[in-house]
Amino acid sequence: MPSMRHSYTVTIPEEPPATAFSFIKPDMRRKNSMSGSMLVSTFVGLLINHAKNSKSAQGLVGLRNLGNTCFMNSILQCLSNTQSLRDYCLHNSHRRDLNNNNRTNTALMEEFAKLIQTMWTSSSSEAVSPSEFKTQIQRYAPRFVGYNQQDAQEFLRFLLDGLHNEVNRVTVRPRGNMEDFDHLPDEEKGKKMWAKYLEREDSKIVDLFVGQLKSSLTCSECGYCSTVFDPFWDLSLPIAKGYGEVSLMDCMRLFTKEDVLDGDEKPTCYRCKARRRCTKKFTVQKFPKILVLHLKRFSEARIRTSKLSTFVNFPMKDLDLREFASDRSSSAVYNLYAVSNHSGTTMGGHYTAYCCNPENGEWYTYNDSRYLLYFPSCSFFPFA
Ligand SMILES: [Zn+2]
Repeated sequence: MPSMRHSYTVTIPEEPPATAFSFIKPDMRRKNSMSGSMLVSTFVGLLINHAKNSKSAQGLVGLRNLGNTCFMNSILQCLSNTQSLRDYCLHNSHRRDLNNNNRTNTALMEEFAKLIQTMWTSSSSEAVSPSEFKTQIQRYAPRFVGYNQQDAQEFLRFLLDGLHNEVNRVTVRPRGNMEDFDHLPDEEKGKKMWAKYLEREDSKIVDLFVGQLKSSLTCSECGYCSTVFDPFWDLSLPIAKGYGEVSLMDCMRLFTKEDVLDGDEKPTCYRCKARRRCTKKFTVQKFPKILVLHLKRFSEARIRTSKLSTFVNFPMKDLDLREFASDRSSSAVYNLYAVSNHSGTTMGGHYTAYCCNPENGEWYTYNDSRYLLYFPSCSFFPFA
């Protein structure tokens, strides 16, 4: 059975008790070969594959805060614990991709790989400084120049996009021809659209993180259904309303719920050639290896943003998302391996990370230069 790896992003408002447990029971370790991963915008989770028993504390290192860079450190820890991405850097596989392409811009990937290598080979207990990496990410995305509170999810997007651009296997993008696949059955159309995407964007980063979303628009008059397929790097989930707590599945259901477009929003039906009341629905056409889920805790209001503090729980393993697939016979099981968590308010807050170490299978909390062994509850994090 192919092991699937996914991740999702979750935003968490209140800081969970980061208690250090030195007596983790060995039988609590996840030993099954199936894994998923998760990332959070305000909370990043990544997945692990095989939890090898290892006494070494490899990869356990803090990252210095360079002035409000906790959002960056939180994401870097999540990515550092993303086994395939880590190995890509540790084995210097990225060099091959960089060299193949004769690129002039390679600095971001180089610095990222150097940082990951340092994090996994450092024998010192001193926190590592990500300043060289920070210099490069700022060149790529000047908006991260400042020292303001930043959104971790946005940062993750920029970072993955930047890395992807430098190791893209495609050097010459084909000319855009507007080929029409509308006459094809949905399944075929999805495949063609994906192939078209890969003709332009194809890298290790895409292999790991990119999936495909299908959106269907159905006319309420004539029943005509038009479909659109789009690649996605993460899913931004609205937080389901509920008493007390809601589950991640509730949020997924809300995200994929049928939506009615009426009034000013009425789209033009292709068959009726007129604006009609339509229903819109998302399904996942292709699940990525690593699924990044972002819980939208910050809501944009007119005057100021606010943060939802609803408790969202989610399973540590075997999160089965098949019901959200376009083709429900496909497998979509994910294990959580990393979480980027935001605590505090929109006015001020702090990012930390919870990651499962791919070598020893234990969970740790990372708070800038510090890290602690963390003992998650069996089924979900006790996060609000
Ligand atoms: Zn119609």
